[in-house]
Amino acid sequence: MKLSKFIARFILITAFSSVILAFLVSIIFQYINFKSDLAHLRDELTEQKKREVKNEVNMLHGLIKYKEELLKKTVQNRLKDRVNQAYTLAMNIYELNKKIKTEDEIKYLIANALKNFRFENDDSYFFINSNKGQSILYSEQVTLDKYIDIWDLKDLNGKPIIQIQSKIATEQKEGFSINSFTKPNSQNQTQFLKLSFIKLFEPYDWHIGMGEYLDDLRNKNQEELLSWIGTLENENSNYTFINSIDGLSLVFEGNKLEKPKKHPSPELFIKQLEISKNSEGDFFEYKFKKPNSSEEFEKISFVKQFEEYGWIIGCGVYLDEIEAEIKRKEAIFEENIKNQIASMVVIFILILMIIYFLSIKISDFINNNIKNLIQAFRKASTENKKINTDELTYKEFVLLANNLNKALEDKNIIEKELQDYIRIVNQNVIISSTNKDGLITDISEAFCEISGYKKYELLGKTHKLVRHPDTSIDFYKNMWDTLLQGKEWKGEIKNLTKNGDTYWVYAIITPIIKDDIIKGFTAIRSNITDKKHIEHLSITDELTKLYNRRFFNLKIEEEINRAKREDKSLCLMILDIDYFKQYNDTYGHQKGDFVLQKVAEVLKNSTNRASDFAFRVGGEEFAIVTILKKDKVLNYAKAIKESIYNLKIEHSNSLVSNYITCSIGISCKMAKDIKNSDEIYKEADDNLYEAKNIGRNSIHVNEK
Ligand code: GH3
Ligand code: MG
Ligand code: MG
Repeated sequence: MKLSKFIARFILITAFSSVILAFLVSIIFQYINFKSDLAHLRDELTEQKKREVKNEVNMLHGLIKYKEELLKKTVQNRLKDRVNQAYTLAMNIYELNKKIKTEDEIKYLIANALKNFRFENDDSYFFINSNKGQSILYSEQVTLDKYIDIWDLKDLNGKPIIQIQSKIATEQKEGFSINSFTKPNSQNQTQFLKLSFIKLFEPYDWHIGMGEYLDDLRNKNQEELLSWIGTLENENSNYTFINSIDGLSLVFEGNKLEKPKKHPSPELFIKQLEISKNSEGDFFEYKFKKPNSSEEFEKISFVKQFEEYGWIIGCGVYLDEIEAEIKRKEAIFEENIKNQIASMVVIFILILMIIYFLSIKISDFINNNIKNLIQAFRKASTENKKINTDELTYKEFVLLANNLNKALEDKNIIEKELQDYIRIVNQNVIISSTNKDGLITDISEAFCEISGYKKYELLGKTHKLVRHPDTSIDFYKNMWDTLLQGKEWKGEIKNLTKNGDTYWVYAIITPIIKDDIIKGFTAIRSNITDKKHIEHLSITDELTKLYNRRFFNLKIEEEINRAKREDKSLCLMILDIDYFKQYNDTYGHQKGDFVLQKVAEVLKNSTNRASDFAFRVGGEEFAIVTILKKDKVLNYAKAIKESIYNLKIEHSNSLVSNYITCSIGISCKMAKDIKNSDEIYKEADDNLYEAKNIGRNSIHVNEK
């Protein structure tokens, strides 16, 4: 993967996962908070609802109380007002008549004046009593002359009505009293609550008063209150209810009942009544049906009594509605979260797009910089030149380039050393590589130099080009046998240069094997021509170019051993020129040397077989070693003797011929019978002696 692509992807993935993570964390935190809020919310909502219903009840309670007090105040003001008017009237009558009329006349005048005093839409009346308990005026009845003693008149509760009123008049001059009393003109004796205002009429020690029956007003007031409460709108099922303490429902499920009904659950009512007795009011938990339903639900209500009316005011909340409220909140939360997710997704996509474009920009930027760096590196590596660090943008790149420059420097040094080394090897080591068929695929300069061929003349050819005719076919066959077995071959090879010169190499040829298959060969050679030359000199007789006596000594041992290994016979022939001393004496030493050379030539030409060797073992003595069998060797010796005679080198002082002749002694034995080289040499030499003795120019072979 490209680095720039990796960085772009890294930025993208990091940004992507960060945004997702932040988003998830925010959602999870919100969710956890919401869950703990929810737990509080349930309590809070319950408390809030409880507060609400309690407030509602307290508010109604206060309102009823206020209305009741207002009612009383109105009545009180009205009564006071009217009584004061009656007092003023009575006082006026008294003042106007006190000097002209008798006391009784004036009393009648006052009583009659107040008797018929009536108010619109009202059946209230004035009453006058003496503070000693005599009734003066009661409604429309003037009882002045009858002298009715009402001092002990008591109401239903046993209150001494007149005594109390007289006491107010005498002690406080005026004041209110409350008691129950029958209504005038009423058929039955039912007593109603009555509020009265009493004022002292000093001239006669009377008190003038007026009263109003509170029940009617209160009933009216209550009706108004109940109707008004019945019109109150309720949130959810938090309706208001009002029961009377004697078990009647007045306002049920928030609605005023036209006719009060018995409470549907007497047991529940008793409990409710008990709790409502607390002067502050109290909460009450129970199960109750919902409006327009018969199913019952858990409910908490606050109940409080308004004692003066004997009312229980209550308001409650159904707990399932709190759960519903919580559900609603949950739904709102879910909606919020959904909206948040939606907006987050949009923001997220926007951010991603921005990051995507940014990452592409960054990637391009990095890409370009890296491209520049790569180009600089490529240029440096192809041209083997150092990078110019001034052209690089970043410190890290410069650092990298410096490292490469250093490596390049080292590499160049090593390469130079290597090239020098290769050049030296190429120039000095004779190397060739061939394919499996022996066709040359590579060749060193040293090879070209020693062989005299150009490289192109050698490539694609075989080594036959440099093969020396002296080297036998068998030599190469052996070599190939070894190589084709996958083995290394080592040995000395005699080669021919392009212009026909001989050169010698010591070669190590190694097969190149891959997967058990020979792919080719490499040959490394060293030039041993000089060594070979010295070696040749050391074993060659200078005059005749035949092998010398030293080499004979080595070779005879070698040949004996070889013949023993192969269980063959070996023949040693010793040849001596006849009367050579005389020849020298006759023709001179130089001519003698020439003869030696000529004879050597014959011997050389007669030992062309690989198994035949010719040596000059003494002044004019020669030896031939051959593995020819005994029956063939005589003919072979005869042929050689014949060839020497056929040179027709004149020798006038020879006693056996006019020409140069030779005598030959031969020892021919099975190798296993040869004790040592001296033994066979001695036998051959003895046989030569025999050949000389029998007249020279002859051959003698041992009998055995
Ligand atoms: P015989 O038939 O018995 O062999 O008689 P011969 O004269 O050949 O006797 P011998 O073999 O003893 O003589 C060797 C002579 O060979 C002596 C010497 O003059 C000659 N001779 C030895 N070495 C050389 C040489 O290098 N050059 C020349 N020209 N003559 C040599
Ligand atoms: Mg001799
Ligand atoms: Mg001789």
